[in-house]
Amino acid sequence: METILADMRRGVDKGLMEKAGSIIKSGGLVAFPTETVYGLGGNALDPEASARIYSAKGRPSDNPLIVHISGMESLDYIVGEVPGQALMLADAFWPGPLTMIMPRSAHVPLSVTGGLDTVAVRMPDHDIALALIESGGGYIAAPSANTSGRPSPTTAKHVMDDLDGKIDMIIDGGSVGIGLESTIIDLTESVPMVLRPGYISLDMLRDVLGEVRMDPGLHSDDPSFRPKAPGMKYRHYAPKAELTIVEGSEENVRAAIESMAREAISRGQACGIIAADEDASSYSCGIVRSAGSRAREITISRHLFGILREFDDLGVDVIYSESFDTPRIGMAIMNRLIKAAGHHILKV
Ligand code: AMP
Ligand code: MG
Repeated sequence: METILADMRRGVDKGLMEKAGSIIKSGGLVAFPTETVYGLGGNALDPEASARIYSAKGRPSDNPLIVHISGMESLDYIVGEVPGQALMLADAFWPGPLTMIMPRSAHVPLSVTGGLDTVAVRMPDHDIALALIESGGGYIAAPSANTSGRPSPTTAKHVMDDLDGKIDMIIDGGSVGIGLESTIIDLTESVPMVLRPGYISLDMLRDVLGEVRMDPGLHSDDPSFRPKAPGMKYRHYAPKAELTIVEGSEENVRAAIESMAREAISRGQACGIIAADEDASSYSCGIVRSAGSRAREITISRHLFGILREFDDLGVDVIYSESFDTPRIGMAIMNRLIKAAGHHILKV
């Protein structure tokens, strides 16, 4: 199949958007930018479209998709009973990087929800995404637009690298703003539970709802403590190189990474280093990539996945990364980085 590349870096193009909407309505797939990462969209009410999404990504079919909407009036059709808490969160954070799990209505095919009786819903904060949802009939099922197991795409080029020839269209809207997938909160639990950390932090959710807890499965290495979001159990975002996160005082971390990088290079390995802007110039060997500034944590979340992909392209053998426990998005950044490292953390 030939994949159409639709350039909307300067904003929504009406003609191309009509074409994109008609692709969605006829069961095809369109990748599109959101404020979090690029999504791979299909008609959420069409079971065959979701089957195509799973197949293009190589995604296990028990891993449900998020349904994207563009207005609150769309909620009743796909959700059994809309919890009051959803209205409060929508008021505070929609459109925005928050996905809510609610009871599913019979209109949502089980293929979209991976057989679950709940549905994940989000209203993205991005002109192109909102225009595509409207043009495509109002309900777009979309996981991240990457091959399953690779880091989520934050540019149209990343999507091309993974899905060119496998989907109908890719809309290029430039680099995304946040760079990490949405926060997921489950409102079907007696106490609302965060299934995936993201830009909307636990504290922001507690400010609106009061009591909110983290899924205990997220922080456990114990296999009997499974994360509730099916997607969180997979070893996502795994780079081809062996990735180690180094934690400790800034001085110790810099010294340890410098010396391990030297050793790796002397063994003949290609070594990548992920550093903060503040430290990047202190390394004297290795391929050093600056994720962003600790003082502007959004710059770190925005660049992280792109750096992991770049190291894959460069054929790096080992990667050492500084730790980025920044105040607000740090929990989400470290959740992704720790998964990418397969929980390989060195304390110095
Ligand atoms: P992605 O769109 O690639 O970010 O993946 C969507 C994420 O949402 C995955 O981790 C899914 O497991 C999770 N998810 C989607 N629907 C549900 C649901 N009904 N219950 C729990 N997790 C869900
Ligand atoms: Mg994904």
